Parts: sequence; structure tokens; C-alpha cells
Amino acid sequence: MSGRVLVLNAGSSSLKYQCIALDGQARRLAVGSVERIGEDSGRVTHQAGDAEPVVEERVVDDHDGAFDNVIEALHGTGLDEGLDGIGHRVVHGGERYSEPTLIDEHVLAGIRELAPLAPLHNPANALGIEIALEVFDGVPQVAVFDTAFHRTMPAAAYRYAVPEAWYTRHGVRRYGAHGTSHAFVASAAAKHLGRELAELRLVTLHLGNGASAAAIAGGRCVDTSMGLTPLEGLVMGTRSGDLDPSVVFHVQRQAGLSPEQVERALNRESGLKGLCDENDVRQIERRAAGGDEDAELALSVFCHRIRKYVGAYAAVLGGLDALVFTAGIGEHSPVVRERVCEGLGFLGLAVDPGANDAKAGGARTISLAGSPAAVLVVPTDEELEIARQTLACVQT
Ligand code: ADP
Repeated sequence: MSGRVLVLNAGSSSLKYQCIALDGQARRLAVGSVERIGEDSGRVTHQAGDAEPVVEERVVDDHDGAFDNVIEALHGTGLDEGLDGIGHRVVHGGERYSEPTLIDEHVLAGIRELAPLAPLHNPANALGIEIALEVFDGVPQVAVFDTAFHRTMPAAAYRYAVPEAWYTRHGVRRYGAHGTSHAFVASAAAKHLGRELAELRLVTLHLGNGASAAAIAGGRCVDTSMGLTPLEGLVMGTRSGDLDPSVVFHVQRQAGLSPEQVERALNRESGLKGLCDENDVRQIERRAAGGDEDAELALSVFCHRIRKYVGAYAAVLGGLDALVFTAGIGEHSPVVRERVCEGLGFLGLAVDPGANDAKAGGARTISLAGSPAAVLVVPTDEELEIARQTLACVQT
């Protein structure tokens, strides 16, 4: 086996891919994407190894067309041959899929059946799989579910206190998301600390445009902030996160909004954007530093919510060995990291300002030497995790 895996992430209007060789070390052989599928102006990007990326503005009518572009790009460097496996990112695995799963017709049907739980994602993921099964006939293909890592949560964490039939008949429970990222950074954090994952109590914070927290005991997720859908939990770029459910009925009655309008507003017009009309944290930090009160409020609501979850999850875990920051904001914003950790000295967390401000790559410690709990910055790599899980699945 060459250990070569193609990782595919098919969304409703994009197809992203990475070809990764897992031959002792991980080598990125190609990275690319097809964006704005089905729109008047599309973009195709391909980068082979360390070469300069090639970007072409090109209209791509549909997902079949997107795959044609990917194959063409990979063919140029012979990477469409000799694949040991293809790993598909699948957003929702429901209660059925708790492991990376070798795809056949039944699994594909199962992913489609879970569409009510992820209407924006699972149908697109399934379409990508369907085309890939034809195009890469004979290459084993694996579904890696974003919910799978959270399947170890106990019922106390995943059940909502609602009528039981909502759970049994309609699947209403906490599933979580970003599982691949939480799993990756938890392992990388243990490696960085030189300790066994099995002995660690971790809180991992995936802070990107979407944001979630996970409580991880001995490598197993015991609670996470996203719920039935990615709307629950932390304040996000455009999602509200936690909310009194009555807000939904209140604005329907008082503002005359339909359920669809409320759903859209809570997913697309809320979060940081709702508070300060912007969801790029770089800009929000600039504005706040210049005295803009809305931007300052957005940052403080964002950080307050995260801090609350860190405290709650430390309680769930019965203590904390390390707090891990990852994704766009977690990896790049010293301001957010400092503000989240402010006042958390009672949990043993103390940020070293110099280390926090340093611009370094890779996993690193930003807590003061000797503090009881470590604070880490760990770059996430979901594609690498999908590639690893895919290879492990096809090798068993
Ligand atoms: P996605 O969820 O879309 O994958 P990312 O993980 O790329 O998101 O994170 C996007 C967020 O990261 C944006 O809010 C962006 O402003 C923020 N971000 C990126 N770089 C920085 C930085 N240097 N300082 C603060 N925030 C940053």
C-alpha cells in the first residue's frame, strides 16, 4: 500500500479535495477546490505539492462537472491512480454511524435518510459520494462523520428534557459537530504535552466561523456544545448559539416572522454579525481597539459564552488538565484567548502574555510555566484526520 488517500468534502456549491500520502509521515500531494458550482461564475483551484496554486475562473454547471475538474487536475500529476482509499467528510451520522464506515449502497442510502437532521449538508455529501463511487470504481470509499466523535457522550449529556417521543420518534437529541477537529486536536494536544490521551481531561475549543466546545475525558467526548444542529452553544460568526427557546415564539408573534425566517435569522444574521454587523474577528478586534462599542460588545458576548462553557466543562470533567484553542480564531487571536482565560485562574489556567502573542506555527503551550492546567494552541487538520481514519478503516 502506498498510503495514498483522497479526501473529499462535497458541499452544496463546492467540492474541496486533498490528496494525502500517509507513508510514515503525512505529505500533502495536492490540494484544491471547485467553488460556486451551478453559479454564473465558478472558480477552480489546484495546487500540486509545493507548486504555486493554479486558479481558474471557470463556470461549473453541476457536481458531475466539478468532479470532471478534480479528475483532470489530479490526472495531470498521476494522482488519480493508485489511491488506497477515498475519505468523504459527512456532516451527520445520526445515531447509526459512530465510526468511519466503508461505503456501500446501504450506507449511501443511510446518509440520505439522515437528511432531515442536516438538510443543507447530507444531501450534498451523498451526491458527492454517489459520483465518486462511479468515477473511482474499485477504490474503497469511507464516510467519516462529523458527529461520530461525540457518540461516546452519556445520555445525561445528549438527552434534552423534552417529551420522550421527540427523541424516540424524531431523533431530537444532542449530536454535536466538528467531531473530526476535536478528535484531531485532542490527540495532537496529548502528543504535544508528552502524555497519554487516556489520562487527560481536556476542553477543546474549535473557534472558526462555526464554533464549538467539547469536554474530553481520556480521549472520549463526554459533552459538546452543538446540539441537534450546529445552532446551539457558543456565539458564532452568524449563528446565535444558546438561546431561550421562547425567543423563537416571541419574534414569530411580535415581529410576524415565519418559522423559516426565524431559522434563517438565527443561522445567518445572528452571532457576531447580529451584534456588530460583521463576522470577521480581525475587523471586529480592530474596531473594538478603536473604541467601537458594538464591536466591543460582540467580542465580550463571544468570550463570555466561551468562558462559561470552559467552567461548565471543567465541572463535567471534575477538573482540567488542558484547554485547547483551535481553528481560525482559536489559532490566530491572542485577544480572544486572553479574554476567554481571564478570571479562570481558579481552574489552574494562567496565560503567559509573551507566549500568547508570539506568532508561531504548530502546536504550542501559551500558559505560564508551572501552572496547574496547560493552555495550548493546536492547529486543526480535519483532512489529515479524515485521511488517517480512512486508511485505518480500509486496512481493517
Ligand atoms: P471556518 O469555520 O469558515 O472554517 P475558520 O476556521 O477559517 O472558519 O475561521 C474563520 C474566522 O477566523 C474568522 O472569523 C476570521 O476573522 C478569524 N481569524 C482568522 N485569522 C485571524 C486573526 N489573525 N485574528 C483574529 N481572527 C482571525
